[in-house]
Amino acid sequence: MRENILYIIVPCYNEQQVLPETSRLLLEKIKSLIWAGRISEKSRVVFVNDGSNDLTWQIIKKLHTASKYLCGIKLSKNFGHQNAVLAGLLAVKDKADMVISMDADLQDDINAVDAMVEKYHEGCEIVYAVRKGRKNDSFFKRFSAEVFYKVMKHLGANTIFNHADYRLMSKRAVEALAEFDEVNLFLRGIVPMLGFKSDFVYYERKERFAGESKYPLKKMIAFAFEGITSFSIRPIRMITLMGTLVFLASIAMLVYVLVSFFSGNAVAGWPSIVISVWGTGGLTLLSIGIVGEYIGKIYLESKKRPRFIIEEILD
Ligand code: UDP
Ligand code: MG
Repeated sequence: MRENILYIIVPCYNEQQVLPETSRLLLEKIKSLIWAGRISEKSRVVFVNDGSNDLTWQIIKKLHTASKYLCGIKLSKNFGHQNAVLAGLLAVKDKADMVISMDADLQDDINAVDAMVEKYHEGCEIVYAVRKGRKNDSFFKRFSAEVFYKVMKHLGANTIFNHADYRLMSKRAVEALAEFDEVNLFLRGIVPMLGFKSDFVYYERKERFAGESKYPLKKMIAFAFEGITSFSIRPIRMITLMGTLVFLASIAMLVYVLVSFFSGNAVAGWPSIVISVWGTGGLTLLSIGIVGEYIGKIYLESKKRPRFIIEEILD
């Protein structure tokens, strides 16, 4: 059996209303897993306070005093959900053998943890928790999420459908993740890029236990934009494609104008105007596209992503 210290990372932004309940359930869960011998006595829950401006940190401090299983990390200001999760993962990676990240609001069913730990023992390095349906979400949230996944996929950032940031990663997987030192880290896109043996567990996504979503539409759109632009240069490719098309159209127009001109159907001045408009338009777009391709290359190079990740060496 592999080593089995489990750390559960919970990003918290103004979650004073849910923390008492969340911590109670997580503590119960971690203790029951310890008793069952599935995880080590050294396992912990780590609440990452993401610059909350309510009593979240005070509550975390109290929880820590009350139980050694509950710990906390305080970020210096609000860095956003993704960075809070990442901060937690990186902070515990040397102590933990497996790390699970989950939301504080109990929307992620805590009972899926058991199945995730089992999959870890079966040898998985990454276990994605995937929600079965979205019947508890509003129509709008469901619809926007659907569009989000479709657009992302289309634009070249492959994410796992209906999987948010509720997942288990082994120490090895987190170490591989740490190799990605890009600033705009879009976890849902990067984690599938890591490779390794992975599996899924399914759960019913619940309603927020209390408080309100910290992801209003504005943040969601920003998140989607972030995901696309930090992953793919396909939008640039689209400009190149459009430029090529317009350029080809301009050649067709040139032929058309010349034919009209020589057959005497052209008004004076029309041929030169039409040809210059199409010609310059096509050339401009095409050139922007080509310049864009180079910028895309620079962009991908500047991320300095690892070119490979080694899973095992037989020495
Ligand atoms: N969160 C965070 N920083 C933020 C926004 C959210 O750490 O800037 C946390 C939040 O406390 C929660 C999780 O990220 O634990 C998911 O947020 P939320 O439930 O509001 O999003 P939703 O489920 O509505 O998409
Ligand atoms: Mg939520």
